[in-house]
Amino acid sequence: MGNKVESSSNSAAWTVADAENVYRVKRWGNGYFDIGDNGNLHVIPRYDQPNLKIDMLEVINEMQAEGIEFPAVIRFHDILRSQVELLNKTFRRIMEEADYEGRYFGVFPVKVNQMREVIEEIVDAGTRFNYGLEAGSKPELIAALAYNTNKDSLTVLNGYKDEEYLRLAMLGTQMNRKVVVVIEKFSELRKLIALTKVTGIMPMIGLRVKMMVKGRGKWESSSGERAKFGLSIAEILNAVELLERENMLEAAKLLHFHIGSQLTDIRAIKEAVQEASTIYTQLVKRGVPLQYVDVGGGLAIDYDGSQSTQDSSCNYNLDEYVSDIVYGFKQSCDLADVPHPHLVSESGRAMTAHHSCVVTKVIGEIQPNGIDFSTRKATGEHIIVSNMRTLETDLTELNLQEAFNDANQLKEQAIQAFKLGVLNIIEMGKVETIYWRLLKNINTALQGEEFIPEEMQEIPEMLSSQYLANFSVFQSAADSWAIDQVLPVVPISRLNEKPTKLCSLVDITCDSDGKIDKFIGEGEVATNLPMHELQPEQDYFIGLFLTGAYQDVMGDMHNLFGRLNEVHVFSYDDDPKDFYIEEVVKGSSIDHVLSTMQYNPAIMAQMIKKEIDQQIQRGSIKPRQGVQLVDFYEDCLGAYTYLKS
Ligand SMILES: *Cc1c(COP(=O)(O)O)cnc(C)c1O
Repeated sequence: MGNKVESSSNSAAWTVADAENVYRVKRWGNGYFDIGDNGNLHVIPRYDQPNLKIDMLEVINEMQAEGIEFPAVIRFHDILRSQVELLNKTFRRIMEEADYEGRYFGVFPVKVNQMREVIEEIVDAGTRFNYGLEAGSKPELIAALAYNTNKDSLTVLNGYKDEEYLRLAMLGTQMNRKVVVVIEKFSELRKLIALTKVTGIMPMIGLRVKMMVKGRGKWESSSGERAKFGLSIAEILNAVELLERENMLEAAKLLHFHIGSQLTDIRAIKEAVQEASTIYTQLVKRGVPLQYVDVGGGLAIDYDGSQSTQDSSCNYNLDEYVSDIVYGFKQSCDLADVPHPHLVSESGRAMTAHHSCVVTKVIGEIQPNGIDFSTRKATGEHIIVSNMRTLETDLTELNLQEAFNDANQLKEQAIQAFKLGVLNIIEMGKVETIYWRLLKNINTALQGEEFIPEEMQEIPEMLSSQYLANFSVFQSAADSWAIDQVLPVVPISRLNEKPTKLCSLVDITCDSDGKIDKFIGEGEVATNLPMHELQPEQDYFIGLFLTGAYQDVMGDMHNLFGRLNEVHVFSYDDDPKDFYIEEVVKGSSIDHVLSTMQYNPAIMAQMIKKEIDQQIQRGSIKPRQGVQLVDFYEDCLGAYTYLKS
């Protein structure tokens, strides 16, 4: 449903503006993507330099010249930096406009993209804003301790904690870092108090509230009474009393909440701010020396460009999000006559989603109606075949629906007859061929019709192709498979040419779930997307966009397809092409993925060699040929896991 390919008669009139309508690049691109007049997809990696444009096809050409195999991840580090700057500058600007008295100390949640290069770039871009890191596990904390070296930024620690986790936090405090231990569960507070007594090190404590307001969208169970994390109001009050008794109330510095990721509806944010600011002012009035309020993550990405409250979209922008938080806290605090807290947010998705994409080649087409089998009339052929042929020859503008109904019925009969042995295999092949040819003719005749009866509206879908692309959904688009996330798919070139094929995508895993059939559509999500006819001898590259948050790191090795080759692209104004490839990170080789599954590739190569040697001794393989076979096996062990295409 959703997308349509119109008849190709007005193909000449196709412009890149039409392509924009189909792929909505500007609407999900946040200013970073654009369709160039040459029909190639362009990247505008700096929000403050709109004339700096990188042609994606030039990047791909350079990668091919360097022998980098596809599929590959392309990272635009300038986009990461831009997003970090935009978030911080927006908070600063709106705080200033509002005469807000606190400051903004954002943190990046490491779980959204743990890649070292990403963390390094974010920390570096954030230094002048005192932008910090958030860790949700011991391994993430270990990384945050090493990389968040700015003594003025926060390191916020979420997630369940054991004693070792707490001791690592203390280590950070001893290194003069502003480490905030967020209490997710009451027992963590007892552990932390005990450790403080032993070490004499006073931590910064955050209290996570189990919010009553529900987020909206897929992650709404992150708040409410049954939420996994956080303290109820009663538990918070008990925590405050306990800290008071232990003479540690001064450590209670931060109030934390997080109502879910990808908050699609701004109303949930307004409500959360109202609830949290009330809790904050009341606690401050009770004497809790809170200085910070952390509003968690949830800032959403408009993956499908619909600006709606659909799961893959959102009905607000960054300015509105920040305004609602800043003005919300200001109002509550002013009313209660309580100081404005410093504000912390943990936006992850919104920081990283745009900066990376997966580029792959379409390597083939799977088509239900592409059969080319002779349907010539044979003497004594079964009546079902003859009837199907008559339907085809008698097709006119006037009997389209009747022909469609009859064809479906005849095909059903043919299948039954074939199973009973009444129709032979050649006859069945003819029925299939005529059926699809007939559907195609009906579809052509329907083009331009104002009214299409409901039953026949599914014909384009029935005739749509599947484009086979060299990648694995499980490695590169986990959320598309797991939670029906819509990710924008766009051809990298030929966008000035009318896309005449309606397609969905299938990957190269041996899994029928290995497909993408949720696309940006008119109104609702579409099951297929207009793409261009494949041309012989011409590569057709497509990009899977907004993969920089979660997708980059959550992929798995289904079918032993491993991590992708990666290039890091930096913009450079003085370069004729406005960019250079700063680094190439090689993806997994076959021997690497095998090793992670406990295989020993060296021994495996010996095993093959031993068997080939035996064959040589028996005389069934010539020695020279045997050596070649062993070499070939070893070469493949070291190769990329994806298809060479
Ligand atoms: C996952 C998570 C985040 C990041 O959320 P986004 O929606 O990606 O911004 C922030 N804070 C906490 C506590 C989280 O669990």
